[in-house]
Amino acid sequence: MGESRDSRQVLVEDNESTTFETTPGVEVLNTFDGMGLRQDLMRGIYAYGFEKPSAIQQRAIKPMCKGRDVIAQAQSGTGKTATFSIAALQSVDIQLREPQVIVLSPTRELAVQIQKVMLSLGDYMSVQCHACIGGTSIGEDIRKLDYGQHIVSGTPGRVFDMIQRRNLRTRSVKMFILDESDEMLNKGFKEQIYDVYRYLPPSSQVLLVSATLPHDVLELTNKFMTDPVRVLVKRDELTLEGIKQFFVAVEREEWKFDTLCDLYDTLTITQAVIFCNTKRKVDWLTDKMRESNFTVSSMHGDMPQQERNAIMEEFRTAKSRVLISTDVWARGIDVQNVSLVINYDLPPNRELYIHRIGRSGRYGRKGVAINFVKNDDVRILRDIEQYYSTQIDEMPMNVADLI
Ligand code: ADP
Repeated sequence: MGESRDSRQVLVEDNESTTFETTPGVEVLNTFDGMGLRQDLMRGIYAYGFEKPSAIQQRAIKPMCKGRDVIAQAQSGTGKTATFSIAALQSVDIQLREPQVIVLSPTRELAVQIQKVMLSLGDYMSVQCHACIGGTSIGEDIRKLDYGQHIVSGTPGRVFDMIQRRNLRTRSVKMFILDESDEMLNKGFKEQIYDVYRYLPPSSQVLLVSATLPHDVLELTNKFMTDPVRVLVKRDELTLEGIKQFFVAVEREEWKFDTLCDLYDTLTITQAVIFCNTKRKVDWLTDKMRESNFTVSSMHGDMPQQERNAIMEEFRTAKSRVLISTDVWARGIDVQNVSLVINYDLPPNRELYIHRIGRSGRYGRKGVAINFVKNDDVRILRDIEQYYSTQIDEMPMNVADLI
């Protein structure tokens, strides 16, 4: 890395009005055709319904395809998954039936979602992409890996397990992708990530992707990245204009529940996600809503994987409209119909605020975020507002009209 970030950045104005801080020399390619991608992949991209690359895709796909280490940041829902998926698909040699790309994500649901995006975009390439995640049968994992996979999208624990068992061979890996990379390099995951990293060929390319990349994470990157290309967004441009943010002053914890019940009709206009800070609270709120005859689904990390799968399926197909969850749902999950996010509890840190509200307003759609604030939460909300230079107003009576 050598030089500091500030001496290398230039500002590039993009057509969707985000100002990116990019490493000098990064081109802006405003068509997929101009990116030099393989024909069978191009076919997959257009068949998936993409016509024009998003701002991050215009900047980051090319350096990723060139083999550079890349740190890519963009607002939630602006196509980061497709950015690294396209680069991964471009880089695999289909004749070689060995893992060449490993993508790690913090949750099983996200790893599976990425697998599906890879398979869809790579639909005309005969690509094999396996979701290697905890909570599933080890025997099945081994069988799939032995069959031959080009890309593995997984969670760190199971991926490392498969590497150690030698069912996941790493000798042909050339690309290592950390989605939600700030979370992956956080205390809880960091050691596991390094465990996997140590097994990869030293020449492997590293891609870091997230909507939030706090300074301490960027500083860590020189430990395992070589002269990375950076495409970053300034923090005051990280909240999306399309997501309107509000608060309701509930004063005391006891009043949150009635406030939520009053909002139920608004929740069901499209689809909504309600965030609580603990699994116990998710269970408690779910029970209480059901006792009051409201229909809700809920999900958290202590549920058996099969139940989690069923709930995801129900919610993705809009059979359920209101989901109560923990931060297991905060990052990366893409359900386009979600237009409302409720922070029943304010998130435990500034980054999670961006990720939670970003479950709505996917790819330029409208979104609304409503924060329940107790008297002693007001300070936290003001901090968020200031940190991101954004505006969080009191919820208007006609909030339903904004959805
Ligand atoms: P992020 O990872 O930045 O949060 P995703 O990659 O999940 O965002 O993309 C959000 C949504 O936008 C997805 O439903 C995806 O299919 C869609 N999308 C991504 N890129 C494009 C594009 N170029 N054109 C149209 N839709 C896109």
